Amino acid sequence: MHTSKSTVSKIAGAVTLGWSDSPKGRQRIRAAVSRTVRAALRLRSRPFSPGAIGTALVVAPHPDDETLGCGGTVALLARSKVRLFVAFITDGGASHPSHALYTPGMIAEIRKAEAKSAAAILGLEPDRLFFLDAKDGTLAGLHGKGKALIAARVADMILETKPDAILLPCRRDGSSEHDAAFLIVADALARAGLRPRLLEFPIWARRNPLLLLKPMLTSRIIWRHAFPQMRDLKTMAIDAYASQLRPIAPEGTPALPPDLASEFCRPEEFLFEQ
Ligand SMILES: [Zn+2]
Repeated sequence: MHTSKSTVSKIAGAVTLGWSDSPKGRQRIRAAVSRTVRAALRLRSRPFSPGAIGTALVVAPHPDDETLGCGGTVALLARSKVRLFVAFITDGGASHPSHALYTPGMIAEIRKAEAKSAAAILGLEPDRLFFLDAKDGTLAGLHGKGKALIAARVADMILETKPDAILLPCRRDGSSEHDAAFLIVADALARAGLRPRLLEFPIWARRNPLLLLKPMLTSRIIWRHAFPQMRDLKTMAIDAYASQLRPIAPEGTPALPPDLASEFCRPEEFLFEQ
């Protein structure tokens, strides 16, 4: 937590005559930034289609990333008869670190059940979900043997499924766990000796246009998948993650900020391909 105002918030305060200091003002700024970023992404994008993808693997550092970040694309791939697998790297148990009643183990069990429900809604087959159960919150701190162990497990999965494409959060997503997950997948691919297409989707980077700027400028292709006809399906799948969307009593705030959650309900997803 910063005690003094950042330069960015000082500038925001100056250009918005101070209303950026209120929660509503901040929300308006975020909405305006999000609109601008989406418009810029659309300009550089081309429509996504499964094309030559016969097998795809989605890598979710936490149970919910697959649905929030690319649930509409997952639903499209499932309907296009693509062999589709999802690997959940961590158990997600760290979303409520100091809850009075629920231990990380209990949260992890809830999130696993939610992941299965969301996957079923999107059209995934239950035997194509892999839960690696790494402890949530530990990926960024893994070194040496611990890091090699998880990379080897992901490599085994890649060798078993032989994906034409891997969908995963952006290499710089603004979350140390997501960034670490990308490096683990890169390590796993080197071990497996395979080079599938990498399709990166933003999760936390949606909140930070500065993080989106680099992939916006340097990606070889930005794919856009618009799915107005499947909007309800994605919203239902997101709703399956009740533990993240709604406060778990006695806590009063949800793990996922409501304005970010509603951002993911838009029927539009972008995938960056380097
Ligand atoms: Zn995550």
